[in-house]
Amino acid sequence: MNMISKKFPTKALIDGEWVSSAKTFAVSDPATGAEIATVPDLGPKDAARAIDAAARALPAWSAKTAKERATILKRWFDLVTAETENLAQLMTTEQGKPLTESRGEVAYGASFIEWFAEEGKRAYGRTIPTTAASKRYLTIKQPIGVVAAIAPWNFPIAMITRKVAPALAAGCTIVVKPASETPLCALAIAKLALDAGVPAGVFNVVTTTHASEVGKVFCDDARVRKLTFTGSTAVGKALYRQCADTVKKLTLELGGNAPLVVFDDANLEQAVAGAMASKYRNAGQTCVCANRLLVQAGIYDRFATALVEAVKKLAVGPGMEAGTNIGPLINSDAIKKVEALVGDAVKKGAKVLTGGTLDNAGPLFYRPSVVGDVTPDMSIVREEIFGPVAALVRFDTETDAIRLANDTPFGLAAYLFSQNLARAWRVAEKLDAGMVGVNEGIFSNEVVPFGGVKESGLGREGAAEGLEEYLEIKYICLGAIDA
Ligand code: NAP
Repeated sequence: MNMISKKFPTKALIDGEWVSSAKTFAVSDPATGAEIATVPDLGPKDAARAIDAAARALPAWSAKTAKERATILKRWFDLVTAETENLAQLMTTEQGKPLTESRGEVAYGASFIEWFAEEGKRAYGRTIPTTAASKRYLTIKQPIGVVAAIAPWNFPIAMITRKVAPALAAGCTIVVKPASETPLCALAIAKLALDAGVPAGVFNVVTTTHASEVGKVFCDDARVRKLTFTGSTAVGKALYRQCADTVKKLTLELGGNAPLVVFDDANLEQAVAGAMASKYRNAGQTCVCANRLLVQAGIYDRFATALVEAVKKLAVGPGMEAGTNIGPLINSDAIKKVEALVGDAVKKGAKVLTGGTLDNAGPLFYRPSVVGDVTPDMSIVREEIFGPVAALVRFDTETDAIRLANDTPFGLAAYLFSQNLARAWRVAEKLDAGMVGVNEGIFSNEVVPFGGVKESGLGREGAAEGLEEYLEIKYICLGAIDA
């Protein structure tokens, strides 16, 4: 066990107890391959026990006032914030991203706790003007009940707080299954939640490599009234089907294939900065990463040259080393996927403008790359790359750009760069995406609704909309008012 993981738990959390198991699995540092820690490899029975605990804890937690819950959540926010440096080091060790990005993610993750602590107090109902003299109508909002959450590895803290904070603020209890690549960050923040006063059973963490069996337990249990999932579209679709029998409410934050459109009238510097921020953060492993850079013919050469120049300055190395911009990819499958996509593109006529190979920092490091002359038939623009490779596609007209951008079953993020306000507005309206960055490559934060359309998912996280996901509306009719 390395130094940083010693500071945080390596057992699962059920009903306020740290749980071990005869079977364990190893968590490793993607930069070195070294084992960091082992955690319990729990199974379906443990998942059911965690749901039991969450169901038992529900009445007391939901009966607290929103203000009482907010006090505990704010304490949790303070503890997470105070532990920023240790959590960031844990995240870089477990997930690989550069330490500066990990610090940013701890702050981003914590921001959801602070925001929802406050927003929980604003779960307002309505009074509705009557249609009958003897009746009065009103609605109240109530917690949906026990929630199950399944999270990915690419944002191992923020993707969990974005679910747990609104659930707890609304008065729900929750069972979380973190990704098997990154369970330590989940356990670390769960410990801080307990320290802050979150009662036993309100927040449970099931560490496992049996994702499909545990997922099935979550879907089949009628007491679980809501499933919230962030991950791949294929798994999201399977969970959607499995939830039909118990008619659960679902939030699905799934894969993306974000277009980043650069028009001839863009500010070149802004477009390059936006593309760099969107494409290369977390070594290209974000669901909102620009996956297809659609560049208008008149600016294509200048944009490609400036982008290549900026990409050549990125430093590749272990995330713990000062100055690193690009850390390792999460595992060897991720490397194989990137190599296959670049290989397919080159075979079909694309040109590698920089990078295009593994880096000598280690087997999971891929050089930040730019591939030009990409055409819409290539897999690199049809699939999520999830690596540090920008694929440049040339287009001629605004109509072509919109057609190309929307030619995908996905619809999470989109970006456009233009100095023409009318065009920016027109195109932003026409893009099939849940989120559009105009002259901006980074737009996620706790106060805005994050989510996608089409096969990128259902529902929104963050903002007022993110609280609604954990609330049911109850309509009450008061009769015989004039009796
Ligand atoms: P993934 O393979 O779908 O895994 C996500 C989570 O689902 C993990 O906890 C995984 O467990 C679990 N899982 C896998 N198979 C399952 C099954 N049959 N039943 C229940 N759970 C199952 O995705 P990933 O590779 O970790 O994450 C990358 C994907 O997430 C990308 O597509 C990315 O775009 C998407 N993502 C979307 C958003 C968004 O907000 N839209 C944000 C971040 C990431 P194991 O770890 O044990 O396999």
